[in-house]
Amino acid sequence: MRKTAQLCLANAAPIPDKNGVTKKPVKRRPSGEQDRLISDALRDAGRPVSAYEIIDSLRDKATLAPQTVYRSLDRLIASGAAHRLESLNAFVACSHAIHKGSAVFAICDRCGGVDEFDEPKALKALSDWAANARFTLRQMTLELRGTCARCTQTSSIA
Ligand SMILES: [Zn+2]
Ligand SMILES: [Zn+2]
Repeated sequence: MRKTAQLCLANAAPIPDKNGVTKKPVKRRPSGEQDRLISDALRDAGRPVSAYEIIDSLRDKATLAPQTVYRSLDRLIASGAAHRLESLNAFVACSHAIHKGSAVFAICDRCGGVDEFDEPKALKALSDWAANARFTLRQMTLELRGTCARCTQTSSIA
């Protein structure tokens, strides 16, 4: 009898269900919070990173499954907060405040630095070609590969 009373006292706060099991709410990070976390990680990286590098950099803050990160990256890319660099199979934070549409990148093969810039004339010429050819354009990513000014300079000094 006494034992029952003690048990009741211990269980006073969370009410168990009819099987005597107290269910804990499943802790799930809302997608908005996830996107913010991943977007911050991209910005902190300051260079193109893979989804696995993002997971690694957030190890102290969160345990993220690759598909969670890919889904979040898809949302960030759709909203213009991030871009995918096809030739590197990597992701980079958008360097503009708000970016919609296509971006042009100059990627340095030596330091891995990425410069994002606007080249509306080039983009227009390409989308005009697509329209003329009746090619339905889904996505356009322009990537210039080479050596950045800083790396060219340091290699000419050395
Ligand atoms: Zn951008
Ligand atoms: Zn460089």
